[in-house]
Amino acid sequence: MIICRNSSEARAQVAQWKREGLTVGFVPTMGFLHAGHVSLMGLAAREADKVVVSIFVNPTQFGPNEDYASYPRDEEGDASKCRSAGVDLLFLPPVADIYPEGAETFVECTNLPEHLCGLRRPGHFRGVTTVVAKLFCLLAPDVAVFGSKDYQQLKVLEKMTRDLLMPIRIVPGPTVREEGGLAMSSRNKYLSPEQRHQALAISRALGEARRAVEAGENHAATLLAAMARTIETAGGRVDYVNIFHPETLEDLDVLDVLDGPAHAAVAAFFGPARLIDNLRLRE
Ligand code: AMP
Repeated sequence: MIICRNSSEARAQVAQWKREGLTVGFVPTMGFLHAGHVSLMGLAAREADKVVVSIFVNPTQFGPNEDYASYPRDEEGDASKCRSAGVDLLFLPPVADIYPEGAETFVECTNLPEHLCGLRRPGHFRGVTTVVAKLFCLLAPDVAVFGSKDYQQLKVLEKMTRDLLMPIRIVPGPTVREEGGLAMSSRNKYLSPEQRHQALAISRALGEARRAVEAGENHAATLLAAMARTIETAGGRVDYVNIFHPETLEDLDVLDVLDGPAHAAVAAFFGPARLIDNLRLRE
């Protein structure tokens, strides 16, 4: 596995592979890798000849009171996971390569961020689209893989790629969960054993909502109240629960009665950790 800390070198290596007629699959991450990230590397390997993983804790997607400085890091452990997963190039760019002195250009998707996490984390998706666009410009992969765990992020990046006419195929990966259902996340590190147990309420709330829909419940307000109750009873603090159209991300609770495709998402605090998860309720 090549480890590269320099943007020009990473660009040159990928360009070399492409000249050789090889396709390149890309998995952008913020590191502190877990089995969810590794599953995306496996998907990238199925979709392309060479796999590139980036680890970059992107300052512009964190709000002023968020965890940029304390975001967990483990470069050695991450490198060894990438090596075992058969990654060809691990890219660890310095901040100054991605945001050159005086950088003032951002990429912004205007509508999809006006929902869900975008409302709770102003500027977050602007940071995400900006960094992913920069990484796409630098590496020009054929395929990029993103997890459905960050559902809104996946939708925003699909839209950005399409809107900016980027010749990159976006492949979604399924959410990988711990035993018991907790979605894997680098931020699970912030949880005490007790909080980790309490946080199972997030996936439980989503599962209960889906089962209720399958059993015929179609009132969004009823489903949302039950989800919030499950999380609060377990000791969590709800940031939001939402039921929305899976493509437009528009709230469906205004319609009250669900009769088309519907997706649910939760953001909740357990102790210091803000955790998110989502599930399709109706096709
Ligand atoms: P992050 O390092 O948290 O920025 O995530 C990097 C990529 O891994 C994103 O595409 C995430 O959606 C994806 N990811 C994070 N957690 C999971 C998970 N539990 N299952 C699948 N993909 C995930």
